[in-house]
Amino acid sequence: MLREVRMLRAGSCLIDQSELVTGTPEGTMVRVPIWMYLLRGDDAIFLVDSGMPPECIGNERYFAGEEGGDHILPQMQAEDAVEEVLAHQGLAVADLDGLISTHWHFDHAGGNRNFRGRPVLVHPDEVAAYRAEAELPVWIDLSLDFRPVRDGDRPMPGVTLLHSPGHTPGHLSLLLEPDGSGPLLLTIDAAYTQRNWTEDLPGAMLDPVVGMRSVERLKEVARSAGAKVFFGHDAGQAQEPLWQQFAR
Ligand SMILES: [Zn+2]
Repeated sequence: MLREVRMLRAGSCLIDQSELVTGTPEGTMVRVPIWMYLLRGDDAIFLVDSGMPPECIGNERYFAGEEGGDHILPQMQAEDAVEEVLAHQGLAVADLDGLISTHWHFDHAGGNRNFRGRPVLVHPDEVAAYRAEAELPVWIDLSLDFRPVRDGDRPMPGVTLLHSPGHTPGHLSLLLEPDGSGPLLLTIDAAYTQRNWTEDLPGAMLDPVVGMRSVERLKEVARSAGAKVFFGHDAGQAQEPLWQQFAR
């Protein structure tokens, strides 16, 4: 049984709104939260995603000089690094059964290197996409102990992984069925915000056509499960009373 879901805040990022919602004008930076999620069951504990890389600590110009780099300004403190976020929960990497790595963007996989020698659950399409790259970002380590997962896999009771490609090739969303509360759908970056979801407006996606097909499918999953939907980077949503019970 899935006993507990904790949404762990791991810093924030200033992002140009044109990246959040395709078609909106450039030039306005908005602050969005970055999350990790702790899933605690009877016999297993998993972390979902690992936040930003330590290279971003105190360095909002980390991406300066890269194409589009001025559209993303990481806001990271030392306390936002994955080992510190876990320590705040009284946990270390070794206490976890593994990491569920939804996709390998800097704000989701930045701490993956801390999971050397531990199981890292990831969709094989994500690994394949990066294996094809000549030059890898510093936070990508292809020598980790990857455990390939497929759509519909259940790494522990109450946790179903959903392959939702488009944002990235191997992107994963999660359907959670915690004991004592209704089902929750974590879209992760298939939908950054409520607006992407409600108005069918894609955020930054590698393949928007595939991505919007994934959103349609996630909506169907949410409908048939009766799940509440939590978005990947919605600044307002975490303040809503419904989600406060999960926030730590
Ligand atoms: Zn992303």
